[in-house]
This record gives sequence, structure tokens and C-alpha cells, in this order.
Amino acid sequence: MSTHALPPSFDNTALAFQYKSDPELKKARFLFKVMSNPMLVQLGTRLTPWSIRMGLPVKGLIRSTIFSQFIGGETLEQTIPVAAKLGSFQVKVILDYGVEGKQGEHFYDQARDEFVRVIDFAATQPNIPFISIKLTGLARFELLEELHRKMVVINKPLLERYELALNQLSPALLNEWGRVCSRMEKICFHATAKKIAVALDAEETWIQEPLDALCAIMMELCNKKSPFVYNTYQLYRTDRLEFLQAMQQLASSRGYISGAKLVRGAYMEKERKRATQLGYTSPINPNKEATDKLYNSALRFCIQHINHFGIVVASHNEQSCLLAFNLLIEQGLPSNHPHIHWSQLYGMSDNITFNLAAAGCSVSKYLPFGPIEDVVPYLMRRAQENTSVKGQTGRELGLIQKELVRRAHSA
Ligand SMILES: Cc1cc2nc3c(=O)[nH]c(=O)nc-3n(C[C@H](O)[C@H](O)[C@H](O)COP(=O)(O)OP(=O)(O)OC[C@H]3O[C@@H](n4cnc5c(N)ncnc54)[C@H](O)[C@@H]3O)c2cc1C
Repeated sequence: MSTHALPPSFDNTALAFQYKSDPELKKARFLFKVMSNPMLVQLGTRLTPWSIRMGLPVKGLIRSTIFSQFIGGETLEQTIPVAAKLGSFQVKVILDYGVEGKQGEHFYDQARDEFVRVIDFAATQPNIPFISIKLTGLARFELLEELHRKMVVINKPLLERYELALNQLSPALLNEWGRVCSRMEKICFHATAKKIAVALDAEETWIQEPLDALCAIMMELCNKKSPFVYNTYQLYRTDRLEFLQAMQQLASSRGYISGAKLVRGAYMEKERKRATQLGYTSPINPNKEATDKLYNSALRFCIQHINHFGIVVASHNEQSCLLAFNLLIEQGLPSNHPHIHWSQLYGMSDNITFNLAAAGCSVSKYLPFGPIEDVVPYLMRRAQENTSVKGQTGRELGLIQKELVRRAHSA
């Protein structure tokens, strides 16, 4: 194992954009400029899903713009050259079958089979150690909501409230939930057998309880020796640091390694709006500083207990990514410790990904794939994120511009 005591510099744009040609970089600059305009994004995020539903001929335009920036391809096969290119720069891949919003048992079974295919493919590749899954791709949203509602009112530890809530489900719902569990088991067991890790995405707070419970059960079954199953912790939630600590205690008491993917959280506006509408206290921190503080505390906690955790630093925040690196060095641990991994979304924050890779860290791009109509919700989130997150677009644009100038001068 190599140790890299020198922290990476995220300002090195030559490294950050080495995989992009000049025309590709100019296209990225154009896209980020468009996304920095809130009016255009608002219009686009309304019109795009509608145009697709109406069957208007917009797919070509989407494919050559926002889709190619943020998505690996329409099929698993189309991600092969993208993953290979990233691999040639020591960047790994978390493959994400990005289908969202499909309802029905048939679609859930189809999604399970596609995840198994993704795992089989990942196992043949040198740089795809993870896949990502969403439970809403395998289960009916209303079923998750119902189970969540029953769990959240029980004041007991996670797995106890899960068992008690299950006892209150009707036989039909219990059966339906049984099918969800089998799909999840099939995916997690297959992945573990193939030595591929599975990261379960965190979603809306009003369905999260059953996701957490099922994930804890899978971790106990799959993470005895190495972390293969990861839950996602959204640190924009006021309660998640405490929950992360409780999950670590559960893992220690039951003799398994806790997989923890740390994110800030993607549904802030939706969460706050719902809390206001229904008149309950928002589960989200009052401000960005509070979220940053909790995120970094969670990171500290995980790295202090690194032998008991598999950690994914899933963030575009330079301070947090650097903090993780520095905490390892402080503890005398190598920056490529097998229990820590960094990840950024494909199409964003290349300066973090490629500079961490060059510093010897295990780092990936989170690479979604799927038919255009199915990945539209994901794309709309990216467009909104790049407009609403203060500084994100400005930072991307500034870095791209800096690299274009550097290339022009060195030509
Ligand atoms: C690899 C990867 C996987 C991801 N998986 C998931 C997932 O499973 N589930 C999920 O929900 N998200 C997921 N995300 C998205 C993530 O939650 C964030 O939305 C996104 O990464 C931006 O946060 P940041 O840490 O990168 O950086 P920053 O730009 O520093 O932080 C922005 C984030 O801070 C928080 N924030 C901003 N303003 C405020 C405020 N006023 N008050 C309180 N908090 C505020 C919000 O969470 C916002 O998204 C993932 C991100 C990555 C990179």
C-alpha cells in the first residue's frame, strides 16, 4: 500500500480535464452556462418531461447535450468505452442503472434482472468496484410509505420497529414486501458472490425507514468480512449523525462491517415544502453551515472507526473531500486504505476526481445509464442542482475556462 502524505490540489485543471478534448470541454462550458440561468433551467425542467411524454422529437437534442454530459449511455454496453476511458486515468466507476418512476411488479423484476446483469458486467471490469441501486426501482412507493408510517411511530431501535411494523401489515402488503426483500436479497447476494459492492441510495425521508432496515439486514448477511452493502446517510438531516452512530453500534454488536456512503442530500427543497405543507418540523438542517458541520463530523466519526466502516465520501465539496484525505494522513493511514472511497457524479467536479486519482486515492465517477425517457428525473435533478447550489456552476465554469485558456497558451 502506498501512502501519499501530500494532499491533492483541486486547482490542477490539466489533470482534471485530461480526458476531455477541446470540443468536449467547450461543449461542457456551453452546458454549464445554460444551466447557470435559472429561468432557462426552470423552463427546461418543466418542458423536457412533458415533451418526452408527448412524444415530441426532442431526444436527439437531449442526447447530444445534457445526456452526454451526465449519463454514460442508454444501455449497459454503451457505458463500456466511458468506463474504459475513466479507467485509463485510474478513475473507477460506480454503475447506476438510472431508471426511475416505473411502477409495477413486472418492472421491478425487470430492474432486479438488470442489476444482476450490471453486477456480472462489473465483475469482468478492472475499475467497477460498485453498483448503485434505488429501492424505489424495486418497490412500490406507496408500500414504502405505508411501512415507513408504521415504523416511524414506534419508539424502539431500528430492527425492532421494523419487526413490529411488519406485524401490522395486511397479508397482501406483507406478501408484496416479501417480494421486495427477495429482489434486494438476490442483488446483494449476487454482488457479494462476485465481490462487487452495492450502495443503496437514500431517498425521501417519508420512505426512508424501510430502506434503512432492509439495508441493515443485508449488511449483516453480506458484510461479515468486507463491506459489500452500503447504506446512504444524508447529512442534511438533523438526525443522521446520531443514526450513523447507532448503526455502527449495531454492526459492532452483530459482528459485521457497516457500509456508509455519506452524502449531504438531494431533496432539500421537496423536503422543506412537504414539511411546511403538512405542518411538521422540517427534518433538514436550518442552514448550509449546519449541514457542512454534520457532514464533516460524520466523516470524522467514520474515519476514527475505519476498521468497522466501509466509507464512500460521495461529495463535490472540496473541503470535505480534502478533510477525508487529511484525516487519513493524521491517523497514519494510507490514502488508498481499502475501507475508503471517494465518488463524484459523472459530468461534475472532475477537478476533485482526477486529482484524487492522481494522488493515489480510490475514487470513482458515479455513472448512470438508461433510456433517455427513464433518466429524465435524474437529469432534471442535475440541472436544478447546478442552478440552485450556490457556487457549484460558477466553480465548474471557472475551472473549464481556466483549462481552455491554459490549453490555448500551451498550444
Ligand atoms: C456519488 C454521489 C452519490 C449520491 N447519492 C445520493 C443519494 O443516494 N441520495 C441523495 O439524497 N443524494 C445523493 N447524492 C447527492 C448529494 O446528496 C448532494 O445533493 C450533492 O452531492 C451536493 O452536495 P455536496 O456534498 O456535493 O456539496 P455542496 O455543494 O457543498 O453541498 C450542497 C448540499 O448542501 C445541502 N444544503 C445546501 N443548502 C442548504 C441549506 N440552506 N440548508 C441545509 N442544507 C443545505 C444540500 O444537501 C445540498 O445538496 C449523491 C452525490 C454523489 C456525488
